[in-house]
Amino acid sequence: MITSNQKDSITIIPIDSVKELLLVKLSKTLENVFNVNCSIRDEMQMPPDAYDHSRNQYHSTPIIKQLRDREVHHAHKILGVTERDLFVPDVNFVFGQSYVNGTGSVISLHRLREGFYGKEHNDELFHERITKEAIHELGHAWGAWHCKKKKCIMSFSTTIRDTDKKLFTFCKKCKNIFSKNIKK
Ligand SMILES: [Zn+2]
Ligand SMILES: [Zn+2]
Repeated sequence: MITSNQKDSITIIPIDSVKELLLVKLSKTLENVFNVNCSIRDEMQMPPDAYDHSRNQYHSTPIIKQLRDREVHHAHKILGVTERDLFVPDVNFVFGQSYVNGTGSVISLHRLREGFYGKEHNDELFHERITKEAIHELGHAWGAWHCKKKKCIMSFSTTIRDTDKKLFTFCKKCKNIFSKNIKK
């Protein structure tokens, strides 16, 4: 049972195969940013109903639903990580999805490598982008909406350039929102 003095935490769940080292690195970063415990669980199979044949992409909403179903009482926020390309109806793709004050969120690594844009791989940049997308989605999960300040981590990314331009940090207003919502 969830009690009111339960501390918040993050659980990372890889969807299908994702490099473990990458997840370990991400979990350490998230622990530092949000100052909560972050653990990594065994991989989850991609839900079959997420796949859209005509688009050859995966719908993020059923993925989040399945992640939420895996919630255990000590895991307040669940972050799914997948190599697959994600979409929601009416847009070509999403880097990730989550809900404001929701439990489940998901990020895709598919468009975060320079190789996707026909450029030479840059490992440092790849990890920066993973970190930014993860912090952004968890920011939503802890109550922050999209922010108009382009440098704020909560600003909306239409392209990977937007992701690269923003900082790893929350502006003062967004920081206040999520800080109030995290139970420590
Ligand atoms: Zn967002
Ligand atoms: Zn902001």
